[in-house]
Amino acid sequence: MLKNLTVQVFLAAALGILLATIYQSITPEGIPSVVETITFLKKAFLALLKMLIAPMIFFSLIGGIISIGNVIRLRQLGGITIGYYLTTTGIAIALALIVVLFFHPWTAYEQVMSVGIDTSATRMLEPGSDSIIRILATMATLAFTNPFSALVDLNILGIVANAILIGVAMVLVLEESSPLFRLVHDINHVIVRILRWVIRILPVGIFAILFDFTLRLSSGEGHSEAFLTQLFQFGALVIGLTLIHGLIVLPTIAWLATGMSPVVLLGKITQPLLVAFSTSSSAATLPVSMRTAEEELGVSSSVSSFVLPLGATMNMDGTALFEAIAAVFLAYLYGVELSNVMLITVFLMAMVASIGAPGMPSASMSGMQMVLLAIGIPLEAIAILLVIERPLDTIRTSVNVGGDLIGSLVVDRYLRRQEAA
Ligand code: ASP
Repeated sequence: MLKNLTVQVFLAAALGILLATIYQSITPEGIPSVVETITFLKKAFLALLKMLIAPMIFFSLIGGIISIGNVIRLRQLGGITIGYYLTTTGIAIALALIVVLFFHPWTAYEQVMSVGIDTSATRMLEPGSDSIIRILATMATLAFTNPFSALVDLNILGIVANAILIGVAMVLVLEESSPLFRLVHDINHVIVRILRWVIRILPVGIFAILFDFTLRLSSGEGHSEAFLTQLFQFGALVIGLTLIHGLIVLPTIAWLATGMSPVVLLGKITQPLLVAFSTSSSAATLPVSMRTAEEELGVSSSVSSFVLPLGATMNMDGTALFEAIAAVFLAYLYGVELSNVMLITVFLMAMVASIGAPGMPSASMSGMQMVLLAIGIPLEAIAILLVIERPLDTIRTSVNVGGDLIGSLVVDRYLRRQEAA
């Protein structure tokens, strides 16, 4: 059990809080070397996470476009699959943002992090900026930047725009045998491996972050209790909405589109959902999903072999929903006011980030940083999410995988109807 990353993260979190509490009661003044070491660990871990954002988004988006591009030649299949995936992801984010607009229990407590944090340096848009032309002008200037400076400056919009243009141009101009396709593919492999290493040391990072956090919060007892309540409320809301999307919204779409009852459908796909739950990885669940789609849902192998791998990389409803709620939650904690335009930015960024995230455990933590950067929440806010990230990842990955399977069913039945007509 100790080998399980989720268990390790829980233990590390508990240990961090416990040791910090003991440490504080023993030496109320603090020992500089202990604080320095913890700060070092925390900073090094956050820097490691940040190190990967730019290349990861850039290459995984190009990779995604290349794979979509190749398949667009298969016109119908490509079009309907991508259209379906984007629509369901959009529904998930809209559900999250609409609910969180009316229901945000954490605002009953103070904004724990707002003191003394200047968020303006990283912000893409000014809160409350209402001139749409001015916003478009800012966005265009950021988007159409030379790719190298976009990567160096962590200009997310620039990185995304360049990746899309380069990806589309590659598909149009290059021969299928071009080594450049292979290169992008290989670079993505390398990045995913590094990400895996970083995630292996998640427990160390969590320990340091929680230790530091407990020390900072314990300036007032009630304060830290309020914070834990806020975190719990956030986690409960994410789980509730993720389950509504996965157990009600998606099966209803499948029911309307194919006539398969939600109960029968969920019964048939239980196995991959459980594998996704325990591995927190859509990619690792792929072989089980393929078998289930073909044997249980009766999806033809030509459809499942395209729709499911594409879904495991680009279709992540649970991830998108989580990122949207997390952005609104952190914006509150950090005292960042969200204008309507910023909410639209959250919508778009959550969509792009969920498409860009590879299907592996905690993958959305890198994409999440892009959502935060876009609305000017400091990157260290990610630490708050990391505290409860593991249990939430299990459920959102199940919904991600369920979304892919339902997608394969809907696309398969649609194509059959087209053929029969
Ligand atoms: N673990 C998720 C998946 O594999 C990605 C994420 O949201 O972190 O689908």
